[in-house]
Amino acid sequence: MSSGIVAEFFELKADSGADLLAMQMGDFYEFFGEDAELVGEELDLKISERSSGGERYAMAGVPVDELTPYIKALAERGHRVAVADQRDEDGDIVREVVRIVTPGTLLETDRSDAQYLASVACDGEDAYGLAVCDVTTGRFRATTLSGGDAAARTLSELYRFDPVEVLPGPRVRSDDDFLASVREELNARLTLHETEAFAPGRARHRLVEQFGDAPESVGLSETAVAAAGAAIDYVEATGVGALASITRIGAYEPDDHVAVDATTQRNLEVTEPMTPGGRTLFGTIDHTETSAGGRLLREWLTRPLRRAGTLEARHDAVDALLGDALVREGIAEALSGAYDVERAASRAVSGSADADALLRVRETLALVPDLYERIDGSPELADSPAAALFAELDRAAIADLRSELEALADDPPKTLHEGGLIERGYDETLDELVAHHEAALEFFETLEEREKRRHGFSRVTVGRNKTDGYYVQIPKSEAGSVPEEYEGIKTLKNAERYVFEALREKEREIFRLEEKRGEREYEAFCRLRASVADRADLLGAVGRALAELDAYCSLATHAARQGWTRPELADERVLDIEAGRHPVVETETQFVPNDLYLDRERRFLLVTGPNMSGKSTYMRQAALVTLLAQVGSFVPADSARVGMVDGIYTRVGALDELAGGRSTFMVEMEELSNILHSATDESLVVLDEVGRGTATYDGISIAWAATEYLHNEVGAFALFATHYHELTSLAEELPRVENVHVAVAGEPNAAVEAGTETETSTETEPSTDAASNGGVTFLRTIEPGATDRSYGVHVADLAGVPAPVVDRAGEVLRRLREERAIEARGGDSGAPVQTVFDLGSGEFHSDDGHPDGDDAVGESASDDGDAGAVDPEAAAVLDEIRETALAETSPVELMNRVGEWQRRLGEEPDADDRASGGERNG
Ligand code: ADP
Repeated sequence: MSSGIVAEFFELKADSGADLLAMQMGDFYEFFGEDAELVGEELDLKISERSSGGERYAMAGVPVDELTPYIKALAERGHRVAVADQRDEDGDIVREVVRIVTPGTLLETDRSDAQYLASVACDGEDAYGLAVCDVTTGRFRATTLSGGDAAARTLSELYRFDPVEVLPGPRVRSDDDFLASVREELNARLTLHETEAFAPGRARHRLVEQFGDAPESVGLSETAVAAAGAAIDYVEATGVGALASITRIGAYEPDDHVAVDATTQRNLEVTEPMTPGGRTLFGTIDHTETSAGGRLLREWLTRPLRRAGTLEARHDAVDALLGDALVREGIAEALSGAYDVERAASRAVSGSADADALLRVRETLALVPDLYERIDGSPELADSPAAALFAELDRAAIADLRSELEALADDPPKTLHEGGLIERGYDETLDELVAHHEAALEFFETLEEREKRRHGFSRVTVGRNKTDGYYVQIPKSEAGSVPEEYEGIKTLKNAERYVFEALREKEREIFRLEEKRGEREYEAFCRLRASVADRADLLGAVGRALAELDAYCSLATHAARQGWTRPELADERVLDIEAGRHPVVETETQFVPNDLYLDRERRFLLVTGPNMSGKSTYMRQAALVTLLAQVGSFVPADSARVGMVDGIYTRVGALDELAGGRSTFMVEMEELSNILHSATDESLVVLDEVGRGTATYDGISIAWAATEYLHNEVGAFALFATHYHELTSLAEELPRVENVHVAVAGEPNAAVEAGTETETSTETEPSTDAASNGGVTFLRTIEPGATDRSYGVHVADLAGVPAPVVDRAGEVLRRLREERAIEARGGDSGAPVQTVFDLGSGEFHSDDGHPDGDDAVGESASDDGDAGAVDPEAAAVLDEIRETALAETSPVELMNRVGEWQRRLGEEPDADDRASGGERNG
């Protein structure tokens, strides 16, 4: 009944929990209502209408045979699509959902990227379990992240894997911040799978069922088990047969890796550009020939290592390939014919591999001895890790599988049931069937001639189609003279079609033989496919070896093209780069190389220079050279000595995030907070402006306190670009801080420089943000009054900047305001250095005669008073006045601004209360 059909559709869809339902109705899968409209729109399907239960519904359909590509396209766009098949049960049509295709469980993908399904569990304390699974290759890994920053590290791990679908566990689901970050930073579908699947007992049971071993034996914690078990449960629940390809689970240790958080990966544009269409590190250095090689290289870039042994081996391999260009090119050429055998094996296991896939497995296996010979024959490569890749492969097993696959026809048809898949000579019964079949076909090949001769027709056509079977066709003009035995079956415009008994008999024989042959070939094909599935581990190993070789070749090719050198991995804390370049910028412009030197005694560089002079490029370059060295790549420099770091942390100018519509200063402080908490004395920190998002005084105070903290407490290698020239004086006092100045080639552009100095120093901006942004709304609870001018310090506190930094920033701020001077705190003892910074003159004075810092401050401040003061506030106002485009500013706007400037200029540091009350309302 048509009235029930749409109701049935909605019922099935609601039960499935999927976004869309494709429901079989005879030879079509149909979508109804909103589903039809969405599918019609996204896949360009024709939408028709159907009446059901007195209402009209939109309807879109695809033929049963063509469902796969449509479903694939929908899943790749992030939809979960349920498929309901129909079957005949004693004359009744019964429909039921047989599978749900989701972004993370889609086997049919032909995207080259890894397709990760990630599952995240949390124990309610501070341990996160993360499991990631790529059903297209059967890779399955899990880990535990614990500690105070576990949530942030889990997000970084997620960002690194870039999953297409994420399953948050029950506790994770109620963590709005975590979910918001996932939504913001990942392009993944969030799926709420049943809560019970994350329960430790059930999750563990699932894993034992799937892998045979107790999950503890591979080193999984209880939270990792919860995440992994839920992932397996989910893959099974979708029912696409993907589960069979997941045969091994591996625990991995994120601590073997360099911490590179999501922000840093974005700032360094490792795999994603900051601006649409921009270049990335991966895009620049990727010359891989295969999709598996590209996936591996991308993975390496997103997970730099701290394991010297592994890195040295990668450097050795690149070195060797760099040394033999001819062999390298030969290898690349051979690899260009390699197929993704890991994915093919996965499809063989799930039973979805077609003849073409097996054929390409055969072709890829044939490459192994060829590649081995090339490598073994090269003196450069014979003893390199590239050769070791192949030495570990079971070449006898590869040869066996390959010769077994020789049975496949070279040009197999797409269909699996109609023969043509298997070569002659592999199956006697099949060969006999084929011989009979061919003999039978001969009857039809000679039929035309025979019928012409026998009956004197001028023209006879013998044909075959689905409805009529075999027939003979005679021109209409001669239809009168057909023999008695001819039985007419169809009249065409100019011809008549006939069959006769002998033809029928032959036809039956041929159909019978074809069916038998098809069955026999299909059986043989299934055996081959099962053999491939049985050797999934072997194919996995071959796939990984080829991918690794591809990645090495790509690194060597890029090193050769750009003149990169092998970095020396040092045991001590050092970063010594000679004639370094930025890996991406150097391919776009004539790059001016520069040097960098950091060690324990010189570990903090304050980088100054006009805007657009290359500060940010210089600092990123340091981070990227370090990252590349710890990926196993050569680096863009004449020489580089790199002491391995445990983390790379960056934060870049607040201006870049204005477009995001968040409170930029809050974001800036959150990032700073994260860095100050996470960095260690083995980390590399790149700060591109800190404190710009707020008023001048507290901006300086925060930057000041952060510098001291990084220098005195954290001890990380740090590069800090700042427009606060006041800070550069710190270098004289803090023993390990040095100033570097980026010299400009050509004329410095003063206008550009002045422009940026003023952009963020308007004081009303933060409170506007405060009102409009959820992240800082509880600023409203702060009492107006004396503390108002330290807005920035409060935000820093709210953002979680470590207490000593907040306290110190408050102290610096107070001293700057009240006494216009502050002494730097630093040195090994942590005792105050006997120097004051005089805000009046903008300089430091050494005060050797006065061991008491406070005395010195008092003197210094009273010396200068306010005569000739270079108040940063006044400087900012002056800059704004210079910058104001008169022609483009309305009189009213100008009046407002002048009023604002007067307020700011009239505001003596000790007259805070009055002035700031006004600002708050303004
Ligand atoms: P800043 O951080 O000082 O504002 P950037 O690092 O953004 O400056 O660099 C400004 C421009 O100069 C960019 O377009 C960058 O590509 C280019 N650049 C930077 N450093 C170099 C260099 N060493 N050689 C050539 N071009 C450079």
